[in-house]
Amino acid sequence: MKAIQLISLQHELGMSIGLDLHLQTMLKEFTKVCIRQLGLVSVHYYFLQVEDGDAVLPNTDDKAKIRHLLSIPKKSESDQGYELSSAINKILGDGNKHFSTRNKETDEYIYYLALDNIGIIALHKFHTPIDDIIFEVLTPILKKLTISCQASIEHQHLLHAIEARKKAEEAINHLAFHDELTGLPNRRLFMDSLTKELSRSQRHGFLGAVLFLDVNRFKVINDTLGHATGDQLLMTIAEILTSIVRTEDTVARLSGDEFVIQFSRIAGNYSDARKAIQSVLDKIHRVFSEPIRAGEHLLHVTLSVGVEIYPNGNASADDILHHADTAMYQVKTHSSSVSLFYDKQLSADLTLRLALEKELRVAVKNPEQFELLYQPQYTANGICTGAEALIRWNNPDRGVISPAIFIPIAEESGLMLAIGQWVTRQACEDLEGLIKKGVPKTFNKLSINVSPVQFSQENFVPSLLSIIKEKSVPPEMLGIELTESTLIKNIGEVVDIISELREQGITTSIDDFGTGYSSLQYLSCLPIETLKIDQAFVRNIHSDIGNRAIVDAIMALGNSLELNIIAEGVETGEEFACLKNLECKHYQGYFFDRPMPYDNFLTLICNNSVLS
Ligand code: C2E
Ligand code: CA
Ligand code: CA
Repeated sequence: MKAIQLISLQHELGMSIGLDLHLQTMLKEFTKVCIRQLGLVSVHYYFLQVEDGDAVLPNTDDKAKIRHLLSIPKKSESDQGYELSSAINKILGDGNKHFSTRNKETDEYIYYLALDNIGIIALHKFHTPIDDIIFEVLTPILKKLTISCQASIEHQHLLHAIEARKKAEEAINHLAFHDELTGLPNRRLFMDSLTKELSRSQRHGFLGAVLFLDVNRFKVINDTLGHATGDQLLMTIAEILTSIVRTEDTVARLSGDEFVIQFSRIAGNYSDARKAIQSVLDKIHRVFSEPIRAGEHLLHVTLSVGVEIYPNGNASADDILHHADTAMYQVKTHSSSVSLFYDKQLSADLTLRLALEKELRVAVKNPEQFELLYQPQYTANGICTGAEALIRWNNPDRGVISPAIFIPIAEESGLMLAIGQWVTRQACEDLEGLIKKGVPKTFNKLSINVSPVQFSQENFVPSLLSIIKEKSVPPEMLGIELTESTLIKNIGEVVDIISELREQGITTSIDDFGTGYSSLQYLSCLPIETLKIDQAFVRNIHSDIGNRAIVDAIMALGNSLELNIIAEGVETGEEFACLKNLECKHYQGYFFDRPMPYDNFLTLICNNSVLS
């Protein structure tokens, strides 16, 4: 009977081991059976290596390190294994399998049993000792428990390692797909998500959009306020953009001050999609009309935004991003608006622009591709009193290209200074030729157009003077034409430069007059000589009452300031007649002559002199 009881005890204890691979759970299962079958009060486990409350496989025999791991029921303060240290010595040191103590007063027994290489288990019992025979039954059980504990610890260790590795991988993943500064998805993740969204939208017929946003003048902020402020600004912008969009939309930072937003499933048709995006653009615009905090600074920040709605034919995710970028670039360089929707023309424009810029760089090194044409200026009775030099670019592949197209490109790409130098030098050389040929007394002046880029150069005046000197032409026969936009900047400086030129004999005309915003007062400060009425006001002046009123006013203004006035772009006899009626004195336009090559101009001037 006793034998059967022992076998069943052994069986039940054995069964409770290793049911759960988790160490603590397994020990709890085992302990429950122990307590029930052996009539214990509590069971305590002490392990050789315990870190942060978890058992660890011991790698040294650092016995002093033995620590409490678990008590069931939960250990109370008074219940410290008071004989633990001698138990450790006896069991782990002397190699005894078990060791027990008895408190006679309380009639309390504690049995310490070895868990080989792992630690000690303490059984706590009252009143009746545990039969020796039970310990024999327990011996194989403890062996099994030890092995299972080892397995559990290893298993747990493995789980920890896997967990840690997963975390590390996640961190690396995050770094690989996110921008470190703002935590936003980076280009890779963005393109990935856009590619998926694009094919989804193609399948389901929903439209989405990509916004390409660039912070205007970010470089200036970065350079003047420092990179730390620049970084803070970027972080704030990232937060703002994220707060504006829905959770299903993706805000990403591509690089530097470039952000993109992908809006998925915004509408079922193009016009609704445009409306939806327009309202987002309005929102962005509203938010950015307030100053933005970057560290200790409050900054006014504007964005240039390009938009592409997708799907767009077979355009790939790369194409879509490129289109949005193209539209943004257009906003940045040309448009007065803050955002633009992409259309095919933009891409064609940009491609042509980039090609022209490249070719213009070649032309600057081979200036024979440039030519100066001359357009004569006449008095009402046909005397040629001057001429304007107008540049042409004879592009070897594309033919003649208008300055209206390539001058803005030259100005933006830094090529204008070289081109301006060439113009000045060529005009002086031509003037020199003209003088040599015997220029008529009625011919006063050759004018060149000066770009704001040239005018704002510190060495503008000395460099102009040195060319005049080099070609030994009389400075009073050279004039410069400036547009109002050149003059609007810093009045004091502008007045100084124009005065300096005037002292040297070089006169200044204001070009395209009426299209800028020069105030009367402003105009009266400037030591200029001539106003050129913009051809837009000359157009149909005989029938257009508005234009006539404007020209009339400009004439009155010019006369009161004792300025010369030239009407530009006179195309017809009617326009000429009307201007003559308004007592305009000087004319330039197709009605008289188109801009012509130098040789033709030379011939014309000589004949004109004969006529007069
Ligand atoms: P702009 O200075 O206002 O020059 C007058 C423009 O009007 C010239 O165009 C001229 O050919 C054109 N034009 C003259 N008469 C008529 C007319 O009766 N009807 C019409 N429709 N047009 C007329 P162009 O030569 O194409 O030059 C365009 C602009 O390019 C110039 O406008 C000027 O701003 C700029 N430009 C030309 N040459 C130079 C240059 O050497 N340097 C700089 N910085 N700019 C230049
Ligand atoms: Ca001009
Ligand atoms: Ca003009």
